[in-house]
Amino acid sequence: MRMKNDPHALYGVFALAGCALLAWGLTVSVAPASARAQASGAANEFYDSHFHLTNYVQQGITPREFLQIMGTRVGRSTLFGIPLQQQWSYANSGDFAPTYYLHSDAPLYYYSFTDAYIASVYRALAPAEQARFDPMITGFNPADMYGADHVRRVLKTFPGVFTGIGEFSIHKEFVSAKVSGETASLTNPALDRVLAFAAEAGLVVILHSDIDMPFAKADAEPVYLTQMKALLKRHPKAAIIWAHVGLGRIVHPVQVSAEAAERSPNHMEIVDAMLLDPALRHLNFDISWDEVAKYAVSSPEAIGRVAAMLNKYPDRFLFGTDTVAPAGAAPYFAVFDMWEPVWKRLTPETSLKVRKGNYVRLFDEARRNVRAWEKANVKDTPR
Ligand SMILES: [Zn+2]
Repeated sequence: MRMKNDPHALYGVFALAGCALLAWGLTVSVAPASARAQASGAANEFYDSHFHLTNYVQQGITPREFLQIMGTRVGRSTLFGIPLQQQWSYANSGDFAPTYYLHSDAPLYYYSFTDAYIASVYRALAPAEQARFDPMITGFNPADMYGADHVRRVLKTFPGVFTGIGEFSIHKEFVSAKVSGETASLTNPALDRVLAFAAEAGLVVILHSDIDMPFAKADAEPVYLTQMKALLKRHPKAAIIWAHVGLGRIVHPVQVSAEAAERSPNHMEIVDAMLLDPALRHLNFDISWDEVAKYAVSSPEAIGRVAAMLNKYPDRFLFGTDTVAPAGAAPYFAVFDMWEPVWKRLTPETSLKVRKGNYVRLFDEARRNVRAWEKANVKDTPR
């Protein structure tokens, strides 16, 4: 279903002038991270900025099982469920119990109990284990003007637990249209209330919103880009991570034909312009999801261009796996290892920031800010 090995698509993807050769030169003296780890058993390779403990039917693994998987390779991780629950509609799938949104035509609905669940399993951990996790609030409806009130209520009910909100979705291929009730929108004031509260409380935000519609035509401005930029600019005080650089399984990187290249930017140029925009200094991107990794490592040209982009903006990208309740270490680490060709081409400074440093900066600042908000706004905050 995805645009597998479509060189034309990938040409457009990361069509920033690459400095692959330069980066290659740097790799001579710097062993790639996972090679180092394999050779020496070295620890603490990355922090996971995008991790789902539970799936679309609220099943998953326990934090202790996840700690087993993390072992010594992963120092810290976000911790969240999925705010949407796939209904098991007997009328639709009979005895077949769907566990993924593509398994059923029945709708998805917001399952707010996920936040209480995440808080309870986090609280059951020892302090040293808790220190490795940043739990996130997801169980709110971003199309509901009361959505922000849910977030506030979760902080007040479970003070000392949460670092941020998300991953939550506005535009997501196959998913948005299945959510029961009003369809979410980047222009909905309900979303503005959520982001305004995130800024007030200091919560870091992980937002999934596809930059474009599925099967978009080449040479066309991505349909949701203008709305996304306007939304981000309305909330300059919120620390926002745009998940997956705006991409999806079939929402592929923006393509531009050779003829249109002078007037239409491709995906890398769009990202580059946003990173240069002083009004978007609060914007970061995560490079999570194996679907994103597939685009990035699809050809030597793509690898060079992605590495050049990360080296140009080392402070603005975070690695995450976007794994969902992984069954073991193999599927979990597979995503990190897919990036190996890119890790090899990063400067040591960039590599460290994308794998860990930017996580520490954003999530530690959010932790401090949210604890301060709780201290000022929640009575009897446990210390
Ligand atoms: Zn995700």
